[in-house]
Amino acid sequence: MAESQTPRVERVLVVGGGITGGVLSLALAQRGVEVVLVDLRSELGGVGHGITLQGNALKAFRAVGIYDQLAEHGFPFSHLRLKTADGNVIAEIPTPPMGGPDLPGTMGAVRGDIADILADEVEKAGVDVRLRTTVTAIEDHGDAVTATLSDGTTETVDLLVGADGIRSQVRSMIGIDTQPHPVGMGIWRTVAKRPAGMDCSELYYGGPKYKAGYTPISEDLCYAFLLEENLDRSFVGEGPHGAVLKERGQGYGGLWGEVRDSLADDAIVNYQWIEAICVDSPWHRVRSIVIGDAAHACPPLIAQGAAMCAEDAVVLAEMLTSGDKVEDVLPAFMERRYPRVKMVLDNSLQLAEWEIHPETPGADPGRIMGQTLHALVAPA
Ligand SMILES: Cc1cc2nc3c(=O)[nH]c(=O)nc-3n(C[C@H](O)[C@H](O)[C@H](O)COP(=O)(O)OP(=O)(O)OC[C@H]3O[C@@H](n4cnc5c(N)ncnc54)[C@H](O)[C@@H]3O)c2cc1C
Repeated sequence: MAESQTPRVERVLVVGGGITGGVLSLALAQRGVEVVLVDLRSELGGVGHGITLQGNALKAFRAVGIYDQLAEHGFPFSHLRLKTADGNVIAEIPTPPMGGPDLPGTMGAVRGDIADILADEVEKAGVDVRLRTTVTAIEDHGDAVTATLSDGTTETVDLLVGADGIRSQVRSMIGIDTQPHPVGMGIWRTVAKRPAGMDCSELYYGGPKYKAGYTPISEDLCYAFLLEENLDRSFVGEGPHGAVLKERGQGYGGLWGEVRDSLADDAIVNYQWIEAICVDSPWHRVRSIVIGDAAHACPPLIAQGAAMCAEDAVVLAEMLTSGDKVEDVLPAFMERRYPRVKMVLDNSLQLAEWEIHPETPGADPGRIMGQTLHALVAPA
């Protein structure tokens, strides 16, 4: 290989093995980079709720070779329906081909399936995974970074990537002070049986709460949610169960009402406040960078959070292995990623504001959702 083609990045430390860190580790390992991946959890596979994956997320998953496995379990569809609280159709919006014409516009999936598939592939690709481990100190030498790990070892790498989520420790360790903030809404989520007539994501507006909705996530299952104001912190977590969601979700008809009524009183339900963060560009300091939710997390109202994470990971891996120097790649990565991520974040925050205050003159959730998804047809 000629000198100019020599990969400048040989070894990378990835902190956090969620969607961002998992996709990044896999993409780098597939391109011949040695990857050490540390995560505080005791296993990378997962449990958890449903997720709506737009075409651009599917495209990123296809880039690292996990799309086909995901598609075996997921539920594909190519439109979104807006409804009144009693279940009458307001509008049907086709989802544009954000992943290209040969991928579905959208796919509902079980989060645990994504985590399990990623964990398997990361291991097969030879990534050095260290569980129950974190980074305790970062020393940036300019031409390399030395990280001290909680197991007492040190790692000297060409680049350190913080993919450690919205409460990132790496973010503050590299000197970025931005913190997440509550958006003013809370979300109830549960997995339930999919009624036979449910063929796409549907959103119910104008009811007693901000919004209700669901996404089919497999032939048998759907993921239902209800958005309302921030309730007391005592609700937060997996504690409240189906009986509470049934009570809070009164006033909605259609299939949403059917799903609500089908819930067992002890069904597993999660409630959490919705938070957002947008770290101003740049997300890097010398040879350390934060990406994914560690750098930007949007209210999940356009279902683009994980898509932005997976895109970050694929684009960064491509650019780092292009043969360019790390010090050139990181600013170029910011130039490519920041405008797209900021557009999604700003539009998701605008949507949250309109859903909280639907009486706002000009409030038009359908329009902003459509505009955002159409803008994302342009490649990442
Ligand atoms: C309610 C809700 C619904 C959503 N719905 C959708 C949706 O439908 N579609 C969509 O595209 N997006 C959705 N999102 C957004 C999406 O889930 C996130 O953007 C995405 O999962 C973030 O991935 P991540 O890997 O960056 O972070 P995380 O998933 O938070 O992963 C971070 C990883 O880092 C590890 N970690 C944390 N701290 C440390 C540390 N100090 N050291 C080592 N490891 C550490 C954690 O254990 C974890 O494995 C939703 C988000 C929320 C909150």
